[in-house]
Amino acid sequence: MDAAAYLVKNYQPGLVLLSIAVAILAGYAALDLADRVYAAQRRYAWIWLAAGALALGSGIWSMHFIGMLALMLPIRMSYDPVLTALSWLMAVMASAAALRLACQTRLDHKTWLAGAAFMALAIVSMNYTGMYALEIEPGIVYDPLWVAFSALIALAGSAAALGLSFALRDIRSRLRTLKKASAAAFMGVAIAGMHYAAMAAANFPAVSQGLGGGGVDKTWLALLISSLSVVLLAAALLVAALDRRLETQTADLVASLRQANDQLRHSSHHDALTDLANRKLLDERLAREIEYARRRGSGFALFYIDLDGFKLLNDNLGHRVGDEMLERVAGAMCETMRDNDTVARMGGDEFVILAAGADGAADIDALGRRLLLAIREAGGTAPGLSASIGWARFPVHGETGQALITAADRAMYHAKSNGKNNYVGYRPEMARRAEDEFNLQRELGAAIASGAIVVYYQPMYRPVDGTLCGAEALVRWRDPERGLITPDRFIPLAERCGLIDDLERAVLDMVCAQIRRWRDNGLSVPRISVNLSAARVSDPRLPGAVQRYLDHYQIEAQSLMFEVTESVAIKGMLEAVNTLKRFARMGVDVALDDFGTGHSSLSYLEKLPIQQLKIDRSFIRELGASMPQQAAIVRSIVTLAHNLGLSVVAEGVETEEQLRYVTELGCDQMQGYLFSRAVPAEDFAALLTGGRFGERGVKRSEATAPTGRTTAPGYG
Ligand code: C2E
Ligand code: CA
Ligand code: CA
Repeated sequence: MDAAAYLVKNYQPGLVLLSIAVAILAGYAALDLADRVYAAQRRYAWIWLAAGALALGSGIWSMHFIGMLALMLPIRMSYDPVLTALSWLMAVMASAAALRLACQTRLDHKTWLAGAAFMALAIVSMNYTGMYALEIEPGIVYDPLWVAFSALIALAGSAAALGLSFALRDIRSRLRTLKKASAAAFMGVAIAGMHYAAMAAANFPAVSQGLGGGGVDKTWLALLISSLSVVLLAAALLVAALDRRLETQTADLVASLRQANDQLRHSSHHDALTDLANRKLLDERLAREIEYARRRGSGFALFYIDLDGFKLLNDNLGHRVGDEMLERVAGAMCETMRDNDTVARMGGDEFVILAAGADGAADIDALGRRLLLAIREAGGTAPGLSASIGWARFPVHGETGQALITAADRAMYHAKSNGKNNYVGYRPEMARRAEDEFNLQRELGAAIASGAIVVYYQPMYRPVDGTLCGAEALVRWRDPERGLITPDRFIPLAERCGLIDDLERAVLDMVCAQIRRWRDNGLSVPRISVNLSAARVSDPRLPGAVQRYLDHYQIEAQSLMFEVTESVAIKGMLEAVNTLKRFARMGVDVALDDFGTGHSSLSYLEKLPIQQLKIDRSFIRELGASMPQQAAIVRSIVTLAHNLGLSVVAEGVETEEQLRYVTELGCDQMQGYLFSRAVPAEDFAALLTGGRFGERGVKRSEATAPTGRTTAPGYG
């Protein structure tokens, strides 16, 4: 058949462009809806699939029809409604298949090809069914080559569409819409290309006649289809956009909720100041570690750390400095430990470290040493920041988290009473001690309130003439069941649990009252020395309180003296010096107690406003012919003290030999069991009326030195 046998095909450019636009829109919708189907929850996915297939199928179908309408043939054209509907159904089904495939999690080559083939088949049959619906006589003559070509475009287009929707799915960037748009353009051109290739394949014999039966009218159809399809696609896109927005909003909400949740979780598990783990997190980690260690039959260590002198530092230098110090210490401990260890703050200046890997004694020992060093370094220039560390091991020292913490805590207290700045491992005998301590604490509070606390007096004598020149007030706890309890057993406890203030106030009150009573009884009372704990000395309210007692009992400042230890100088240097200066102005002398022990340094002697030095009994104990160097030390201390204008007291004189040495070395006063133990007030009154040591019962006139250095004028 030659070319003239066919009608010349002319296309209306406006409709061609419209058809291509609809194709691109359909392509865009396809990609967009595939994305929705994929993103939707399982329950809603099929609704998206149906709606998407409807929109996309109608889009492709209308593209086809607008393309058909663009064709201008010099015959009247109408369509068979049943076949037209069938072609629409095919387009929708092809779209459903495409969307279904596009929302699979994975697209392997086989599914991809099979999907593309199925889609192409549906598109091709939709197209040719649609063309078949054209009511003309005789039928269209197809060019097989063009038909094959159109099928190939359909296949390639489908394959590309599937591939693209897959490739685009997981992109989350601003470029996404642009990429989707260009992919849609590509798809639209492919769909349109397929259509126009099919049109090229179709030849309409020159003798063709439009049947024009009950078929649908052309202009009406053009309007209907194009507007319907555009509306449908636009609606689908709009709904998809709304859904996407809802999804992002939901996602945002979920994200911010999760973030808030994470923060909440973090803050409920961490200490606000140091960001270390808190008690709760420690308990969790402990439980986990115990479980793990049990399964593997291994062990681990738990350290309990308490900073020495922190309270004083905090009170003296201010809370801000204290907080900074805690942060630095926390940082130092974290650096010392490994990542999978847990460093927790128990509150205040107490920390617990769960050392997951530390099992062997050598490991624990090394860790303890490193921790001490790190904390000392973190203290920087702050005077005397150190730590007392106790440790316990799982499972030997405790099988539960609580038991381990308690054990390590007890060991820590032990480290503290061993002179601080050291680390001590738990031993079972500490358990009893701790229980005792708890009871003791409760009872001590009651004892202070009920007056079970009493003061004993130990006389001090002058070596040169043996006269009684003073006394030290030493506290005792008279317990109905336990008898007389010495201060070594409850003073450290009182210091730890904050009872020391009450205790010392009670002692001061009793001492002042006693002086008043003795004086009222006509006794000549020497100066009484009262011990002050370091914590009290840095309390700026102390001098005022002392003055009130003096006023209340109407006794002179010279009737009293205070004894403080060197730790006062090391800890709250500034505050302590202020307090001591105020005592000096008031006329209350101060002695430096236990000199020679602890962080003994002669440089403190110059800085502290004190009047007396008490050489610790450990020096006196070793005085003797066998230890000449000990005597040399004491001699130089005495010389130095005298050069600084301080009087010197030798403590703990127990033997005649020690007495000889003390006398010879030039000590100004002495105190010890050789002369008298600390005795109740009544017994001390007897000593007062006694006289020189070893001369009990000597008449008072003989005993009282006329010009006693320590005897204030006006004493009866
Ligand atoms: P300290 O201030 O060094 O008191 C001297 C201690 O040595 C007293 O023990 C005393 O009985 C004892 N002592 C006296 N002569 C001798 C001796 O010849 N040989 C031996 N071995 N010991 C002797 P005490 O009464 O048990 O007091 C112990 C510590 O308790 C005191 O040591 C003091 O630091 C503290 N203390 C006592 N009363 C108070 C108080 O009211 N407040 C404060 N903060 N501490 C107090
Ligand atoms: Ca003392
Ligand atoms: Ca002492």
